[in-house]
Amino acid sequence: MTRQYLPDMPGSAPAPIYPTDAVQYVKGIGPVRAEALAAIGIDTVLDLLYYFPRKYLDRRNIQPISELIIGEQATVLGKVMGLGERKSRRGRVFQLTVQDDSGLLTCVWFRGGEWIKDKFQVGDQVALSGQVEFYRRLQMVHPDFDILEEEDNPINTGKIVPVYPGTADLRAKGLESRRLRRIMQSLLERLPPVDDPQSEPLLSAGGLMGLDQALREMHSPTDDETLATATHRLKFDEHFYLQLLMALRRRALGALPGRKIVDRGPLVKQIYRDLDFELTGAQIRVLREIRADFQSGHMMNRLLQGDVGSGKTVVALLAAAIVAHAHGQTAVMAPTEILAEQHYRAFTAFSRKAGLSLALLTGSTPPDRRKEILGQLKSGDLALIIGTHALIQDDVTFKDLAFMVIDEQHRFGVLQRGKLMEKGVYPHVLAMTATPIPRTLAITYHGDMDISILDERPANRGAVITTILSPDQVGDARALIRRECRQGHQAFIIYPLIEESEKGDLQAAKSGFTALKKQLPGLRIAYLDGKMSGADKDSTMQLFSAGEVDVLVSTTVVEVGIDVPNATVMVVENAERFGLTQLHQLRGRIGRGALPGHCLLVQRGGGDETTARLQTLVESTDGFEIADADLKLRGPGQLFGSRQHGFERLKLGNLVTDGPIIRSARKAAFAMVQKDPDLRSGEHRLLRQVLIHRYQDQLDFVKVN
Ligand code: ADP
Ligand code: MG
Repeated sequence: MTRQYLPDMPGSAPAPIYPTDAVQYVKGIGPVRAEALAAIGIDTVLDLLYYFPRKYLDRRNIQPISELIIGEQATVLGKVMGLGERKSRRGRVFQLTVQDDSGLLTCVWFRGGEWIKDKFQVGDQVALSGQVEFYRRLQMVHPDFDILEEEDNPINTGKIVPVYPGTADLRAKGLESRRLRRIMQSLLERLPPVDDPQSEPLLSAGGLMGLDQALREMHSPTDDETLATATHRLKFDEHFYLQLLMALRRRALGALPGRKIVDRGPLVKQIYRDLDFELTGAQIRVLREIRADFQSGHMMNRLLQGDVGSGKTVVALLAAAIVAHAHGQTAVMAPTEILAEQHYRAFTAFSRKAGLSLALLTGSTPPDRRKEILGQLKSGDLALIIGTHALIQDDVTFKDLAFMVIDEQHRFGVLQRGKLMEKGVYPHVLAMTATPIPRTLAITYHGDMDISILDERPANRGAVITTILSPDQVGDARALIRRECRQGHQAFIIYPLIEESEKGDLQAAKSGFTALKKQLPGLRIAYLDGKMSGADKDSTMQLFSAGEVDVLVSTTVVEVGIDVPNATVMVVENAERFGLTQLHQLRGRIGRGALPGHCLLVQRGGGDETTARLQTLVESTDGFEIADADLKLRGPGQLFGSRQHGFERLKLGNLVTDGPIIRSARKAAFAMVQKDPDLRSGEHRLLRQVLIHRYQDQLDFVKVN
């Protein structure tokens, strides 16, 4: 690449600027703008180089106005011919008329008058991107826009022009896209080649572009193909550092000593014999995997993935019984009281004859009882404790916590898990989740854990038929409920409640309950929501479990874990408001026994697209397939609690589409750690620095700094 130096003084090149320099020394920035950049995490020149354009204007994807197609996304380039405000029914409207060689386009901004008004002048060259609509004439509503200088007009220059993301603050400080573009260009001219932390052999094996070229290409693209290669290299890096973190963690955790438990003992055999069902092949396989960890002398760090109803609970109990025989204690932590209570009941029932000492500890445990439990945990009289977050309070201490089970682990943060772990000496960890995730995601989100999968439904499970209902078919749902309940079965009706604080949602559930009592006379109907006291919730659930309630109207508090094999009907109100995975989990509340079930999704909004999305559930009962569809439609954020994302710093990377890159990055990272476990060798010095810079807060257990 030829470098053009703009002479500061005749005959001398400008002073170079280095990646580690503070960003304020970049020409065109200075202290005030540096502050605005610091606010979005840009402190050094290197940080600025990693501030990538959000899109590129390429003359090839610009369309003449006369060829725009209504309803499609497009980018046009033209000259501002007129601008002004007018009043309309919707308040003040700012309007811009733009012309290119082929025609006229109107752009409108509703209610946005103030900030947009001063942006444009007649005669400006602008690029506009948005959806093409027709209202009296061709128009775009609230398009993305970019004011272009003559020299960065892609048509004139034949270049690909980067467009930077902006914030109001950046714009206020004069750092709009156009300015950033100029700042970047002059920076690139003064910047000596950036060192590449990756070795030459790794780059050539992976067909990866050098870092210096890739970074420059991002800000000053040569052509589509080269830009794609640059993007590929930088994506690889993002996944690589994440996988390096995973490899280091896994190594560090795997190297930790763990209680060595060799014998199975009679307790587990007794519980096993008392089960009134056969374990599935998958359950037996997973138990074997867990036992191998117990025997290894190293700490177990295992994720158990199993679709709803695949029987994770009994696996955890049998593992706990092995630990109990070795005089170790087990803690089972669940995200809600209802779930903890249910586990407690199940564990008690399964182990009644074998005689395992266990207790339940939640926020609703009365103080006296709590005190008693804490005493027994400390003395070792209790082999097993089941509970909620109440387990991680400071005054809960164990005689010897050797095994912890985290149910629905995505509902907990890393810190909460860590807190429970600290109550023992490297206790074995089994995290369980009913959100089956595709493999590329699993190795990203859980790349530091071993993974076990329960991929077999217990035998004799009735089939569940799923149907989408329109609002005028709700009568069918009631008829079905009546029919099923007359045969002694039970039904759930679920209302969406996204935030506990949303009053409207709570109201909908309550009035649904009132209406239903009138519509289904003779049936015993109960109501449950998260606002009720623990005792009320518990007694309602108990009544439903015991079959003394026919229909349970509830918010999503029953989402996880509830296990009532006699329930055959699941009606979900406003199904359009749920994610597919969540609906699949709700549906998993029925079909848990031998009885066939019916899942009715009442769609009250969203149109055809939503129906198509819900149709996935009609067609599939495979949790992996459904999670995959959800992931493609809504992204990983919806699939996991947001809390877990602390370590995910992907700017370019995409967990859904980058499968091959993720796999090759993982391979390279794990091979590197295998050869150089603490990244101590000289050739990895720079890599180590970058890792520490990116993942400073995630390096507990890992000794690289
Ligand atoms: P999940 O994996 O969703 O947590 P559970 O552990 O709650 O599932 O199990 C669902 C139901 O299936 C429970 O009633 C449990 O007792 C029962 N169950 C577990 N394993 C088997 C099996 N192998 N055969 C029959 N029923 C089983
Ligand atoms: Mg469960």
